[in-house]
Amino acid sequence: MATFTAPLREMGFVLNDVLNVRQLSDIDAFNDATPDFISGLLDEAAKLIQGQIAPLNAPGDATGAQWKDGEVILPEGMAEAYKLFWESGWVGLSNPPEFNGQGLPYLVSKVVEEMLCSANVAFALYPGLTTGCFEAILANGSDAQKQTYLPKLGSGEWTGTMCITEPQAGTDLASIKTKATPQDDGSFAIEGGKIFITSGEHTMADNIIHFVLARLPDAPAGIKGLSTFVVPKYLVNDDGSLGERNAFTCSSIEHKMGIHASCTCVMSFEGAKGWMVGAPNTGIQNMFVMMNLARIMVGFQGLGQCELATQNAIAYAQERKQGTAFNGAPEIIHHPDVRRMLLQMKATTEGARVLAYETALYVDLAHHHPDAAVREEAQDWVDLNTPLVKAFCTDSAFDLGSMAVQVYGGHGYISEYGIEQIVRDSKILCLYEGTNGVQAMDLVRRKLMMHGGRLPRRFIDKVKGALADASGHEGITRPLGAAVEALADTTDWLQQSFKSDPNTGAFGCVDYQRAFALTYLGYNWLRMAQAASQHADDGFKANKLATAHFFASRMLTQVPTLLANVKAPVDALVALDAASF
Ligand SMILES: Cc1cc2nc3c(=O)[nH]c(=O)nc-3n(C[C@H](O)[C@H](O)[C@H](O)COP(=O)(O)OP(=O)(O)OC[C@H]3O[C@@H](n4cnc5c(N)ncnc54)[C@H](O)[C@@H]3O)c2cc1C
Repeated sequence: MATFTAPLREMGFVLNDVLNVRQLSDIDAFNDATPDFISGLLDEAAKLIQGQIAPLNAPGDATGAQWKDGEVILPEGMAEAYKLFWESGWVGLSNPPEFNGQGLPYLVSKVVEEMLCSANVAFALYPGLTTGCFEAILANGSDAQKQTYLPKLGSGEWTGTMCITEPQAGTDLASIKTKATPQDDGSFAIEGGKIFITSGEHTMADNIIHFVLARLPDAPAGIKGLSTFVVPKYLVNDDGSLGERNAFTCSSIEHKMGIHASCTCVMSFEGAKGWMVGAPNTGIQNMFVMMNLARIMVGFQGLGQCELATQNAIAYAQERKQGTAFNGAPEIIHHPDVRRMLLQMKATTEGARVLAYETALYVDLAHHHPDAAVREEAQDWVDLNTPLVKAFCTDSAFDLGSMAVQVYGGHGYISEYGIEQIVRDSKILCLYEGTNGVQAMDLVRRKLMMHGGRLPRRFIDKVKGALADASGHEGITRPLGAAVEALADTTDWLQQSFKSDPNTGAFGCVDYQRAFALTYLGYNWLRMAQAASQHADDGFKANKLATAHFFASRMLTQVPTLLANVKAPVDALVALDAASF
């Protein structure tokens, strides 16, 4: 069985030595969130998550959620663990205190989310979607809607969902057909079928609040004709008590590759009572408020799975003996190819952690910093980094899961070791909240073009500044310099060619996205190497410097090749008609 130990030292290093988390406690909203406070809180989270939630991961995978006569039965122990989790305040960690949250930085809640997603990513979806639904109502709901739903969503006592997907409408939200018909009492009758709805039905919370994308009768066709609605499982009376059950059912659940303990529901709305959130036909904008944060959240799910794969592969390779390596040692960790895999796993996970944490830190600065210029810059970083965090961390989770199986050899393929579960659980992360191909298009078509192209310029200037200030570490600065020059050149080419033909870069988006993320990780490894060089612990310092040099010499060097693909002729890609494939 895979085991999980929270990497508290690594987390503390990134928070304190690389990102200077202390800066958050200088902001009025977060005066109490000092480094010591955060460290104590993460210790407590680790105890709960390792002790109560990680042990449910393998059994939950084996049993899975079950559907019987419209009811969803979750694996044993899930309901009790969820109750303990929300009652101890973990669901509402960064929600505002007025809605039963703890009012802590978003960054802190995401660090806890990383642990949760290593321990049990299927479990993490219940609080995760609840937070998404909370954020959507907080951003656009009326005062009455906020008072009705947010206190219990904010604490996690009620859970939430996002009801977007329909059989004909996956990536293409313009094809959504679910109807919302106005009623005399100001509510709307919601009618239609939604598929793949995470946490759509269960009994572990007293109420489930669905956030539904639907179309008004007179709405314009396509994406501009969507509106958002809040649709509770049980109607809420004026005094807050629960009333009658709403008119919708869960008609089945999906049988799927992984995250078995998370129920993925087929929902049938049969004239259900819903209330519009925000203005008519602004559903896409409303949804994206939540979706952007949800994409960062999914990136953290990926990061958690990267950590799980990496720490288990290292522990196994330190114990498993096969033959003798070049240095005469029997454990497989001494074999060159195993070292290569383990270093790639470590370099990816630790580098991605800085990318993800820094993005979450920018969310806090964008929302709470007193200086408007700082808020604006931080929001640019959030916009730029969101597709990178989502796509890079989740692609890496699947890749590292597969690499962990390779490290375990045939044992990795056997269920009882719990490693193949990582491959199965992590694939979905590359697909939902916008597939990773969609993230790449968002990066190239939107983020590179926003505000006259200043978002990527901020990154390129920042890295060049760091290189100019760096002394020593030539093994990292040299390939990082080459990578950032190539990135600047290709970014310029994409920005120019987009103006003449928006399709030019489309074939190279995914390569560009990976090249950008690897360059970002190169910058992270430079900062980690600099911070580790000041570290009193020689073992820690040596570990970080070796991993940084591995990344710089074996992974960062891929950037120019990936970027060459972006500009390569597309003739071969357009040569075949669909039938000739
Ligand atoms: C386990 C699970 C949980 C989920 N949870 C939820 C949930 O809680 N709520 C919810 O609403 N949905 C949920 N989903 C749905 C999920 O978000 C969609 O599956 C996802 O958006 C992709 O849609 P699709 O499956 O229809 O794929 P498609 O849209 O058919 O895409 C197929 C392929 O085509 C590519 N593609 C499609 N359009 C384009 C384009 N314009 N340009 C380039 N490439 C394109 C995609 O990248 C992909 O590779 C869940 C799905 C699963 C499997």
